[in-house]
This record gives sequence, structure tokens and C-alpha cells, in this order.
Amino acid sequence: MADPVILTVAITGSQPTKQQNPAVPISTAEQVESTQAAFEAGAALVHIHVRDDSGKSSSDPDRFARVQEGIRKHCPGIIVQFSTGGRGREASERGSALQHRPDMASLATGSVNFATMIYENPPALVEGLAKSMLDHEVKPEIEVFDLAMLYNAKDMVDRGLLKAPVHVQFVMGIPNALPARERTLDFLVEELGSLLPGATWTAAAIGRHQLTANHWALARGGHARTGLEDNVYFEKGRLAASNAELVARVAEISAQYDRRPATPAEARRLLGLRPQA
Ligand code: ZN
Repeated sequence: MADPVILTVAITGSQPTKQQNPAVPISTAEQVESTQAAFEAGAALVHIHVRDDSGKSSSDPDRFARVQEGIRKHCPGIIVQFSTGGRGREASERGSALQHRPDMASLATGSVNFATMIYENPPALVEGLAKSMLDHEVKPEIEVFDLAMLYNAKDMVDRGLLKAPVHVQFVMGIPNALPARERTLDFLVEELGSLLPGATWTAAAIGRHQLTANHWALARGGHARTGLEDNVYFEKGRLAASNAELVARVAEISAQYDRRPATPAEARRLLGLRPQA
């Protein structure tokens, strides 16, 4: 019996523009439509950033609420995950959409350099977001952009700021952060198993590394993320037609590893989430 893999689709992100790929969904209607097509292609989890009308990254809780409402209506059972990521957003606003109780939210457990900026996650901010997620019964996805973030997550579990078993995402290939190296992933997965037994994990990588990381995760029993947030190309020199096209490809290659896309109900069980609200 093939082992289910949770396919995450990161539909929009804070950065890619329509100039880079016209398929990047920006408006609420586009985001809902793009998610529905990805859901039908096998995605069980959608990672959401919202933009304002000019296309800039936004923290507007109402906008998050509208996208969530449309997605829940058109994609029954799909796991909704809000980003609390920093790019282009004020620290004080990054948790403002948690009041709408998405199933999950991203939580980076430390600071790191990106290509041209510092991704700032000071301890007080990380702890504040973690507490707010506990209060609103939102399961964090721990974003590990650099090694110390994994050990910080273990420390937060010990201090009662995170509930075990946690779900971790290893993010590779961002310049100045973790490299996209297979042996690096092996080390991360081994450390996770030793520090936080029972944790689940996803591997994500950006740009040309995206598909490579999907193969690595499928081979190791991990979960996989794709989508236009991380990569706007289908292959070198050819833009992805949609988020759904990227999801369909991962769904297809999963069979090579005796895996198959998890249904939303299976994904909820694997992650210990409540049934759809
Ligand atoms: Zn994101």
C-alpha cells in the first residue's frame, strides 16, 4: 500500500510578480481559483500569503479571512496554513490573521540572512507568535531556514511553547541560508528524529532546486512542497502554467517512490489536526 505524502502548494508568496509569471495568483478570486485547481491535482495543504491591490505583501487580516472562506468553500477539507513570514510586513502585524483560526501557520524559530536582507525573528517575536498559535489552536509549521532553528524548536517544546509532535519544514536553497544539499537534508532529518521523536517534516527548496527537493523528500518518507511562491518555472526556460501544473508533477512522480498524494482527511490525521472547521 503506497505511503501517503502531504503535498503543500505555496500559491503566491510575498515576492513573485505577474511580470515574472502571469499565473501567480494575487487577487482573492485568483487565489481561491488557483488553490482549487491545485487541490484537484492532489494538494492537501495550501500555504497562503496575501497581497494588497497593488500586489505588495500585506498583513490585512480581512484579506486572509476572505481567502480562507473561499478556499474552505471550494476545497473541502484542505488544510489552510497562513504565513506569518516577515518580508514586507511589520513585526507587530505578522500574527494578526491568527484570530481567524487557520488550521496551521508558519513559524520561523530564528533569524537568518537571505540574499539581500536579514529575515528578522527575534526571540520575543517568535515566542509571541507561538503563544498566539496555542491560544487560537493553530498548529505551527516550524520553518527551519538555518540549523539553529531546529534546536530552538526543541527548546520551545521543552518550555511548553510548542506542542509535540511538531511539524517541521526544512527550507533549502535560499542564498545565505541552508544549501540544497542531499546530505544536509539527511543530517536535518536524523537530528529531527533524535530531538523530537514523532515529528513530521516537509522539504522545500526554491528555484531550480524545488523539484530536486521533492524527490529527496519522497525518497525519505517526508512530505513535499511546491508552488509558484518558491519557483515560477516548470523547467529551465519554460514558465509554469499554474500552481496545479507543479502539484500534478509531484503527484505523478510520487508513484516512483511507492507514495501517493494524501487526501485532506489523511493529511489531517498525519498532522494531528482537527477535522475541517
Ligand atoms: Zn511563504
